[in-house]
Parts: sequence; structure tokens; C-alpha cells
Amino acid sequence: MTIYDDDVFRMACAQFEVIADYLSIGKNHRERLMYPKRAVAVTLPVHMDDGSTKTFQGYRVQHHLTLGPTKGGTRFAPSLSMGETAALAMWMSWKCALANLPYGGAKGGIAVDPAKLSRTELEALSRRYMQEMIPFVGPHTDIMGPDMGTNEQIMAWFMDTYSVYQGYAVSEIVTGKPVSIGGTEGRREATGRGVVYLIERAMNMLKMDSEKSTAIVQGFGNVGSVAALSLALKSGLKIVGISDAHAAIYNPKGIDVEAAEQHVHKKGHLRAFDQGDHVDPNELLTMKCDVLVPAAVDRVITGKNARKLQCRILAEGANGPTTPDADLILEKRWDEIFVIPDILCNAGGVIVSYFEWVQGLQSFRWTETEVTDKLFRILEHSFIQVIRRAKEHKISHRTAAMAIGVERVLKAKMMRGLFP
Ligand code: GLU
Repeated sequence: MTIYDDDVFRMACAQFEVIADYLSIGKNHRERLMYPKRAVAVTLPVHMDDGSTKTFQGYRVQHHLTLGPTKGGTRFAPSLSMGETAALAMWMSWKCALANLPYGGAKGGIAVDPAKLSRTELEALSRRYMQEMIPFVGPHTDIMGPDMGTNEQIMAWFMDTYSVYQGYAVSEIVTGKPVSIGGTEGRREATGRGVVYLIERAMNMLKMDSEKSTAIVQGFGNVGSVAALSLALKSGLKIVGISDAHAAIYNPKGIDVEAAEQHVHKKGHLRAFDQGDHVDPNELLTMKCDVLVPAAVDRVITGKNARKLQCRILAEGANGPTTPDADLILEKRWDEIFVIPDILCNAGGVIVSYFEWVQGLQSFRWTETEVTDKLFRILEHSFIQVIRRAKEHKISHRTAAMAIGVERVLKAKMMRGLFP
């Protein structure tokens, strides 16, 4: 039992053990690779609008510092725990290593539902979180970015708080900032764009006709909405299902995703969106489609529903959407379902965050075309490596992707040695 004890952390460890077995990593190295290097928990008192003071729990986990600073998002979600944060940090490590970024993984966040706070309360909480984190983060130590429940505005408050304490503008302390204060063109769309690039790549490989294909997208936040829009408008797929935390909509004739986006913009959720039948959100995942994109929370594809999936491509936009039980089933269905594993599929976000950090350090600006071209080049390279490794070793795409990441971290640790 450790401070990380939690279902999601256990899941991340179980996935890691599969890779460690495959790579024949000995016990000493396993623990060194698995447990986070550092973790911090903070209590955040905030003045609420009604005059009361409320406290919130905040976390930041830095998984390994072997290859450079740590990098990872900040999640504002009611159920966030230290264990979940550690799992997400571990996944960031393998994700960054697979993309060959000079980072270890990190993750942080606050156990809070941001929708329940006023703007003033949200700003106070965000600033307090960053202020408490100042001793632990830095442009060469740990760089925060956005994740579920956070956005450009929150990144701007983080950047401002850190900068005020330093006495000068430190734009490279966070990524995912607005472009007006040193953010990069293309960061907001990066994760969804990357998901769609890889889906198109897989469809091409499988000789699927996008004009005749359908997609279901679970989650309508930054990743899901950008992916759904781009799949519909750019790739020409028919989007037959979408969902968020409040509603799931199915329409075999196709959903107007732009109308859904406008609805969410106005109302804040998909509830009462009337372009299709409202269905059980769990059932949406197992409905027939060519491309299924889980782009919401972890552990939605489980031992219970993996057998029922009816998609040809499973593109994991979320972090950890598939449990190890489900993986065993999907491995047997490898010729029916082509999995694009999370650490490859959603890597676009952190790759463009890396570009933003580099631009910040150099006080230099790239165009959106430069950003997108470089992003696709890295994704293409990772995709080819994963597919090749999986074919050559007859292993799943997830095992191949994680093995490439874990191997790179292990190699660096061995090369640097153990001090003292
Ligand atoms: N939240 C994103 C992820 O899970 C990346 C955050 C960042 O850009 O640092 O990959």
C-alpha cells in the first residue's frame, strides 16, 4: 500500500507490468520506473462569493526526471485523487518518450467541479494552486499544461501568478496559454487534430473509404469536439453518435456537429440537443460504427463491453479509456478492431505543448502551418514505429507503443546510472 493506492494507479501499474514482462525488466528497475519521483499534495483555501472560506485538495505528480523536465496537464475534476494523478503522470512519461520529447511525465490538478464555481472563485482557486506549486515547478523542472476541466484562461492565470512572483514574464512555465501571451498557434486544436490524423492514417492502411464510414465520439470537450468536427468536415465521415457527461445522441442519418458545438457553446452541455435519439451513454460505445473515439474519461472500455464493440478502428482520444481486462479481449480481436492506443492517439496535445515551450524559451514564434506540419511529422514517425514493432513482434499496438516509451526511459536511466 502506497500513497498512490487507487484503482486508476493500479491499472497503470498493471499495464506497465505487461510491458516489463515483455521487455524482461528485472524487479529493481521495475519499481524505479513505475513509482513517481516526486508528488505533492496541497490544501487550497479560497474565499467564496458568499463570504465563506472553502478548502480544496490539489496535487502534482512528477513521474521521472531522467530525460528533462516533467510535463503534463492540470485536471480540475471532482473525483481527482493522488493515485489517479500518479497514473496520469505515468502515462505522460510513456507518451512523451514515444514521441521522443525531452520530458518526463507529470500531471496535477484539483479535486473540484469547475462548473460549480463562479469566475472569481475559479480564478482565486487557480492562482492559489499555482502559488502553492511555485517551489516544485519551473520552466526547467516541471511545466504545466491544460487537461480536463482547465482551459486557456486558467493557463493564463497560472502564467501570471508564477510571473508575478518571479518579477518578470515567464511564459514558458505553462503551455496551452492564449496566443496573446505567448501561447502557440494550433495548441487548442492539437490533440483533436492529432487524433484525426492518426484515424485517417489507419483508414488509409485498412483501405477504408472515409466517405462511406461512420464515427461515434464519446466526450465533447476540447478533444472530442475538435475530433468530431474535423472527422465530419475535413475527413468526410458521417458522425452517427456523440456524447458528453450529460447526454448521448445517436442518429444513423448523421449529426450536424457544428450545430452540436453551437448548442454546447450556448448551454454548456449536450442536454436537450434535438438532432437524434437520446440513448444510454454506455450503449453508445457498443453501437455499430467504423470509428469509435472515446475522448472523455478513463476505464470506459472494460472486460464487460469489449466483446460487444462493433467498430473497425478504436481511436483512444482519452487517457486510459481501456482497462487491461478489455485489452486481453481486444488482443484476440486484433484482426477485427484496429486500436490506436492513447499514448499515441492523443499525443498531439503534448507535442504542440513542447513546441510552445521551445518557442517560449527562444522568444520565437512559429506559424500554425509550421506547428501542424511538425506535429504530423512526429505522429507519422511514431505511428510507423508502433505498427512495425507490433507486426514484427506479434504484439498489440498498446504493448508496442508502451514498450517503445518504457525502453527509452529505461535506457536513459541505465546510461545515467544510480547516484550515489
Ligand atoms: N493534458 C494533455 C495530455 O494528457 C497534455 C498536457 C500538456 O500539454 O502538458 O496529454
